[in-house]
Amino acid sequence: MLALVLAILCAHNFDTNSSGFDILWFANGILLAVLLVAPRWRWPGYLTAGFAGLLLGSYFIHEPIVRNLFFNTLNLVEVLLPAWWLRRKSTILPEFTRLSYLTRFLFFACIAGPLGPAMLNGLEHKYLHQTSFLTGAAEWIFAGSFGILCVTPAVVAILRTRPRHLERIGRQWAYPAMLVVVTFAVFRQTRFPLLFLTFPMLLMVQLELGLGWAAACALASSAIGGWFTVHDMGPIALTALSEQHARAVFFQVYLSAQLFMIYALSNVLDKLRYSQAKLTRLTTLLKVVAETSRDVIVLADLKGRRKWISNAVVGMTGWQPEELIGHTFHDIVHPEDIPRMEGELRRLTNGADGGSCEYRVRRRDGSYIWVEASVRVYFDSKTGKPIGILNLVRDIHDRKLADEKLQSAYRMMEGLVTVDALTGIANRRRFDEALATEWRRNLRDGTPLSLLFLDVDHFKLYNDTLGHLKGDSCLRQIAESALDIVQRPADLVARYGGEEFAVILPATDSAGAAAIAEDICEAVRNRRLPHPASDLGFVTVSIGCATIIPRPGTNPLELSARADQALYDAKGKGRNRVCRFTGPYFPPVAVKRAIVLPEKTVDRATEGEGSNCVAKR
Ligand code: GH3
Ligand code: MG
Ligand code: MG
Repeated sequence: MLALVLAILCAHNFDTNSSGFDILWFANGILLAVLLVAPRWRWPGYLTAGFAGLLLGSYFIHEPIVRNLFFNTLNLVEVLLPAWWLRRKSTILPEFTRLSYLTRFLFFACIAGPLGPAMLNGLEHKYLHQTSFLTGAAEWIFAGSFGILCVTPAVVAILRTRPRHLERIGRQWAYPAMLVVVTFAVFRQTRFPLLFLTFPMLLMVQLELGLGWAAACALASSAIGGWFTVHDMGPIALTALSEQHARAVFFQVYLSAQLFMIYALSNVLDKLRYSQAKLTRLTTLLKVVAETSRDVIVLADLKGRRKWISNAVVGMTGWQPEELIGHTFHDIVHPEDIPRMEGELRRLTNGADGGSCEYRVRRRDGSYIWVEASVRVYFDSKTGKPIGILNLVRDIHDRKLADEKLQSAYRMMEGLVTVDALTGIANRRRFDEALATEWRRNLRDGTPLSLLFLDVDHFKLYNDTLGHLKGDSCLRQIAESALDIVQRPADLVARYGGEEFAVILPATDSAGAAAIAEDICEAVRNRRLPHPASDLGFVTVSIGCATIIPRPGTNPLELSARADQALYDAKGKGRNRVCRFTGPYFPPVAVKRAIVLPEKTVDRATEGEGSNCVAKR
């Protein structure tokens, strides 16, 4: 409907009629704008309405029917072809501020589209009016192309911002009204050349109401100005230009200057608005991240001097951001952690782009908390050079404390599984591990490794007469006696099981081991722990000693078996003594058999060559 009415008005108002020359052909520009914005399924309707409008308009200016049909068919072609080329896909919407679209628009709508109709107009001039072909073609090109160039972007702007326009008009209707008044004042008289007065008014419309209104007002103003110019009034009629053609070109330049101004300004404003919106979005985002994050965000320069800190630092440390900005980490990081932090900073400045470290930070109240920092170098977006360090600091104090508790619990558990609960000395598990380790160490060093097996004499009778609690206490005292004698750090006294103990003596020869065993026997005896069921009346122990220089292919079991064999020798020879294993070695099965040998046989063994025993009182 709009296209129809405008087409009629344009056809009627802007034809000079006296020379058949159009000062500015609005109609095609409007129709093209409508097609570029509307969905393609509506094109047939708009084209029909537009064509009808053009026919009616031409009818009103008394154009002969054949000319009317001929020219308006050309008009339709001039609109349809560029619309089709520019809108192959209905998703392509006009964007005149984009250079690629503007170039295509200029080519298709202002050159390629009007070219064919301009030729036909030239031919019509040449053959029907006997005037120059070029004049006819140029006339069409000027009015048609120029009309499209000026009008289409303006109408697109109007159509695309229509709802906003209606909302925004409010009290600002005064600006368009002033422009209309000024336009009348400028064009209605012929004394003063006040053409420039329309520009500031248009500028005000543009700034207050935006591009759509400015474009609409420019077109309305040019319609008024054009009408007066056609009727020999206004500043253009004042010029020395007497020919209508020349005046029309002058008017076209005037209108294009106005449109150029509002488009250029709109472009600049759009870019500004876009940057401002982007900036606002980024600022909001940053604010949300900085204010909602429980981690502290720190921006520092490459020397580690803080430039910005998020407010989360207050909750985490009690410090205000202002108190920390401008300082390096040295002021609040725990002195023990500073070397590590300096190392991290050196790593970053030497090219590493990120990393993480844990350190302690002094809170405002003087206490320290553990934090974890994820650091990353950030770069200048233009030069690509590193310009600072982004540090995300997380409070890990509770986690760290929990970790430490867990570690100590683990250490304690580990201790528990290697300590004998009754005596507090190493248990069997610890003994096995230590024997294997010392075996390897002495194998490497080529040194002798000695092992003592200690068994309490007649301990079953001890329990039976004095009770198990006394028995337990007795075992604790025997462990203490052994610990008193064994001095070297690598030596280990362990409870082997029941009332049996073992002593590992690394780098100790047979004589040394026997001496220690004697001392332990002595120490137990000296305690004079009462043993009513024993001949001596106090507790004694028997100890078997064995010594081996570990060799490849042998294993600690052999040493255990030899010490065991020596212990049984000591038992067999009357207890309360130390027996050294001197060979021959009975493999474990044979030893077991030896255990069940009758007393007599054992006695023989006592005298025999198997062990070297010493009994004492
Ligand atoms: P022998 O002189 O031949 O070694 O005689 P023994 O009675 O000591 O011989 P045996 O090995 O048969 O006895 C070991 C006894 O040690 C058995 C048990 O009553 C006692 N015993 C083992 N473990 C413990 C313990 O943890 N606490 C107490 N109180 N007694 C234990
Ligand atoms: Mg025993
Ligand atoms: Mg015993």
